[in-house]
Amino acid sequence: MRPTTRRRFGAALAIGGAWAALPAFGQQKKPKVVASFTILADLVAMVGGDRIELATLVGADKDAHSYEPTAGDSRTVAAAQVLVTNGLGFEPWADRLARAASFRGRRVVATSDVPRERYLAGEQHHGAAAATDPHMFQDVALGRRYVATIAKGLAEADPAAAQDYRQRAEAYDKRLADLDAWVRQQIDTVPATKRRVITGHDAFHYFARAYGVTFRAPQGLSTAQEASARDVATLIQQIRREGIRAIFIENMSNPKLVEQIAREAGGGVGPELYVDALSPAGGPADTYEKMFRHNVTALVAGMAKN
Ligand SMILES: [Zn+2]
Repeated sequence: MRPTTRRRFGAALAIGGAWAALPAFGQQKKPKVVASFTILADLVAMVGGDRIELATLVGADKDAHSYEPTAGDSRTVAAAQVLVTNGLGFEPWADRLARAASFRGRRVVATSDVPRERYLAGEQHHGAAAATDPHMFQDVALGRRYVATIAKGLAEADPAAAQDYRQRAEAYDKRLADLDAWVRQQIDTVPATKRRVITGHDAFHYFARAYGVTFRAPQGLSTAQEASARDVATLIQQIRREGIRAIFIENMSNPKLVEQIAREAGGGVGPELYVDALSPAGGPADTYEKMFRHNVTALVAGMAKN
């Protein structure tokens, strides 16, 4: 099942109703699983396949940091057996929502099996304390950990299908290993001195460490953090000094600040990067794999101009 914008359990309930009229089928009900945002939903869909009913809270091209859950979200979570979130403060509203929904199911926090020594802190933005960067999914190796954690969580919630979840996760993991190798290959085509990129907020520390690219952004770990005038001025100087042409807007946040920075630094902006959300179904980045292929292709083309 592909994650789509604000998918609800409507279809699942309709199917359940149809089954209720045909008790002879004796089908076991599929667990209802809620993923907090689209990137996570795609990973859950790859592991759960048609064994689960999947709902996504924050839709395509939407910003999970600044999201405000609705009454409908509360009903969706209340009806679910499993709630999958990124954790590390990526969705600052998630715990409140689970409480409001009196959620009694299984919480799966996708980052929970990433060892502490692999955590990275954010930049110190104008006095704000450096927190742990939650955007671990931007390193495919850590995305593979998400998949393993999701498979474990689904298997615990639905032991009857455990073998199926494990097999799907293993097959998907092989594809992600290939994806990781492809990303390295692509980045390796760019000379090390040119590997500099400007984006909207600090979502790429894990990508930077994994693939050897330097990212700078006016905003911190969350799009909700204000960029200070001093940070913006420093960034503009740096772009001019280093001749950075790889300047990208984000698909799920306001592009105005990055566009202004590019203008003042005397450059243009590259295409959208898919940062904290996938594109709508049928778009250029409607899966985790396609998101990486799109972003890396755009980054390589942008860095070539540096
Ligand atoms: Zn973010």
